[in-house]
Amino acid sequence: MENKVYDIAIIGAGASGLMASCAAGEGKEKPRLLLLEGQKKAGRRLLATGNGRCNLSNRYAAPEKYHGDTEKIASLLERYSPKSVEGIFRKWGLLCREESEGRMYPYSLQASSVLSLLLGKAQENGASILCEKKVSSVTGQKGSFRIACDKESFEAKRIVFASGGLSYPSLGGNSSGWEILQFLGHSVTPAFPSLVQLLTEKKFVSSLKGARCRGRVTLYLDKEPTASSEGEIQFTDKGLSGICVFEISRIYGEYAQKGGRNAELSCDLMPAYSLKDISSYLRERVRSRYLPVEELLDGVLQYQVGRNLLRRTLPGKARVCGELRGEEIGAVAREIKDFRFPVIGSAGWETAQVTAGGVPLREINLQTMESRRCPGVYLAGELLNIDGDCGGYNLHWAWATGHLAGISAAADWRKDHGGI
Ligand SMILES: Cc1cc2nc3c(=O)[nH]c(=O)nc-3n(C[C@H](O)[C@H](O)[C@H](O)COP(=O)(O)OP(=O)(O)OC[C@H]3O[C@@H](n4cnc5c(N)ncnc54)[C@H](O)[C@@H]3O)c2cc1C
Repeated sequence: MENKVYDIAIIGAGASGLMASCAAGEGKEKPRLLLLEGQKKAGRRLLATGNGRCNLSNRYAAPEKYHGDTEKIASLLERYSPKSVEGIFRKWGLLCREESEGRMYPYSLQASSVLSLLLGKAQENGASILCEKKVSSVTGQKGSFRIACDKESFEAKRIVFASGGLSYPSLGGNSSGWEILQFLGHSVTPAFPSLVQLLTEKKFVSSLKGARCRGRVTLYLDKEPTASSEGEIQFTDKGLSGICVFEISRIYGEYAQKGGRNAELSCDLMPAYSLKDISSYLRERVRSRYLPVEELLDGVLQYQVGRNLLRRTLPGKARVCGELRGEEIGAVAREIKDFRFPVIGSAGWETAQVTAGGVPLREINLQTMESRRCPGVYLAGELLNIDGDCGGYNLHWAWATGHLAGISAAADWRKDHGGI
């Protein structure tokens, strides 16, 4: 085994690792940087973000948009405000644009431009970026760590862990970073998938697959309305998806992790109308006595959704509207306001956008991102016990912690190196 020596090694070339390698090379005295990535290419997940457009931050990034160990993140988020993150990208050559709900994107609206910028900057800093190098162990101490991959090992004076969480294994999600950190003295809180599709029984959605409609989704846990979000609801062959479902999926994940088994999603398909308004509209509509019942909601609800809702509420033979009784019209109106689906699980790690859970922040010095358990080791990104809402908050966290870890590791190395 060949031993190669570097000043700072960064484990994981995703959002936070690339940011750390760009930040660590700022300044006159440049450390010898090594970036180790387990996948065939660096930044594969980054390319998939924001449907290929990379929703890289959000103007409203603040502690209330995050979950996990949020108590002490305010000053870090003040230091790395959306404006300052935008400023870092601008300084390096990337312009951003703001779209609805404060979501920030690269001006090109292409995730690939963010990745090329970071890769270019890391290379300009002289970083060696080695792919298909999955780190399997780290031993040693500050000043002389030994990092082992499959057939090679490297030496580094400082290490930044930026190996992400468990979500999307096809894009590199795995637990190896946590396992190594546990060996180095850290703990990891139990993890569960977040920003993920929620599953229901197939019979409820088989004829809804592919349908999209706007509405308000409410999550009922043990019969109690617990969280709610409005937006586009997307039906798949297994369940319900879309940003509004993602937004409440974290609360479901936490409930399921604690053993909760009584969850339902209720969709209000006409949130702008009251039950009374919908009932009176339907009573007028059924005056078209010969209109087939199955067509009653055409023009009001998305076609598949309207048909499915009517089949569910008024099962049986095809009829015409003139035959509908008052209570049946009332039942249709109630169903429009409360279209229910039992939740039987989430789509899991395979398609979850983020990992909830990770290394507790009390084990990190949040002024520098240095480990309190293993000096010389810095942590950044999704492997920490912080996850954000949908809308650019997770990448914002990755940039903020990656940048801080990078500059802190370099500053600490410079101290040993006789620099300032
Ligand atoms: C489909 C999808 C869309 C998303 N869209 C958005 C969005 O628009 N906006 C937003 O804010 N967030 C989005 N996210 C979430 C966001 O991508 C993550 O929060 C962010 O990438 C986390 O950055 P990270 O650096 O911590 O981890 P990652 O980006 O996952 O990087 C970790 C890297 O470490 C590598 N690695 C792991 N273990 C090892 C090891 N042992 N040795 C070497 N390398 C290793 C992995 O292969 C990976 O490349 C999305 C996520 C997904 C899956």
